[in-house]
Amino acid sequence: MAVWLLGSLITHHTAQAETPDEEVSTPSVIRSRSFVVHTDLPPDQATRLLTRLESMLEMISAYWGRPMQGMIECYVVRDIDRFPVTGMDPIGVMAIRTVGGMNVMRTVTDGRRYLAKSIVYANERPEVVLHEVVHAYCHHSFGRLGPVWYSEGMAEMGHYWEDGNTTVRADLRAIKHLRENSQVLLADVISPHQVSGDSWQNYASRWGLCHFLSHSPNYSRQFSLFGRSLLMGRDVTFEQTYGSVADQLSFEYEFFLRHIETGYSVERTAWNWNGKFATVRSGRTVSSTILAGRGWQPSGLTVQSGLRYGYVSSGMCSIGRGAANVDADGDDRGRGRLVGALLKNYQLGDEFDLGKSGAFRASSSGDLYLRCRNGWSELVADSGHLSVELQLQQPGRGE
Ligand SMILES: [Zn+2]
Repeated sequence: MAVWLLGSLITHHTAQAETPDEEVSTPSVIRSRSFVVHTDLPPDQATRLLTRLESMLEMISAYWGRPMQGMIECYVVRDIDRFPVTGMDPIGVMAIRTVGGMNVMRTVTDGRRYLAKSIVYANERPEVVLHEVVHAYCHHSFGRLGPVWYSEGMAEMGHYWEDGNTTVRADLRAIKHLRENSQVLLADVISPHQVSGDSWQNYASRWGLCHFLSHSPNYSRQFSLFGRSLLMGRDVTFEQTYGSVADQLSFEYEFFLRHIETGYSVERTAWNWNGKFATVRSGRTVSSTILAGRGWQPSGLTVQSGLRYGYVSSGMCSIGRGAANVDADGDDRGRGRLVGALLKNYQLGDEFDLGKSGAFRASSSGDLYLRCRNGWSELVADSGHLSVELQLQQPGRGE
């Protein structure tokens, strides 16, 4: 929800409140460079949280290219029934009790200018305060949060900014929801007719889109520029930004949703749209290098339905951490095996087995993509590459 209330813009989070079951500590105030935190968490836990907040703030400041203005005040509360609420905004106290957290945004003046002043209210779950602090940073640094899909999607990413790991680590419920709703239209996710605090399903969708666009090498640079423009209040639209690659983006986004699981890497599975494809005449060879630990990669060959193609591949790959090297036939579980799929008009056909050498008859026409097979969430540990040569074996007749 985002409403003006007594001069304050309110946003809040859909997280569920939890019932504390441990003994509470005496509320204390701890400070760091950018935060003042009022909390009843034990001191060591509070200190760890503060370190994490500073670390995330450093990363998001670098991402959005602007240091934060001022300090963010936070109330992080384990036991709201025993926490002294004097000085706290009642709406923030209510948020801690009901939805988990909220960022209360005010505009204050020092007599000369107006300054952003966010106060974060959160229960003890780190993802709640990290989410709200992303909002607070945007408010302090840019004076606005951007449209709901963007502000909530990026805030949901809050607790994944902590290290260099960019694989999917979302809540399992969110991952399952995204996989089962892979047909969702991008236009619906970015619809302007949305409000904050609506449903966990919508938060999952916003996170999914922001995660994908932030990490895909095909779209991440534009996404960070686009996001900065949104935060600066410039007149930019998603359609203007990605209109020229809309088909590719929709295809890749749906592919991401269909295959999403813990450990999935958007970077490793990005499609190379610069690959050149052509049909091949009898006697000519099309060569390509296929990397292990990646998604589908262009072979350079456009196959024609009914024709027969031969292939020979050389090279060894390591599939899984510490695993023995395997050739293009893969291991005894089929991991590392060279496999193909045909892409035509942004429709990807079924995966079919290839291997070290052999031949296949094309079941339909399309561009041939190849990969070294492994689970989509397990590519991170794979390495090595194959050299693959493809040839038309016979011209075929009447086709
Ligand atoms: Zn939020």
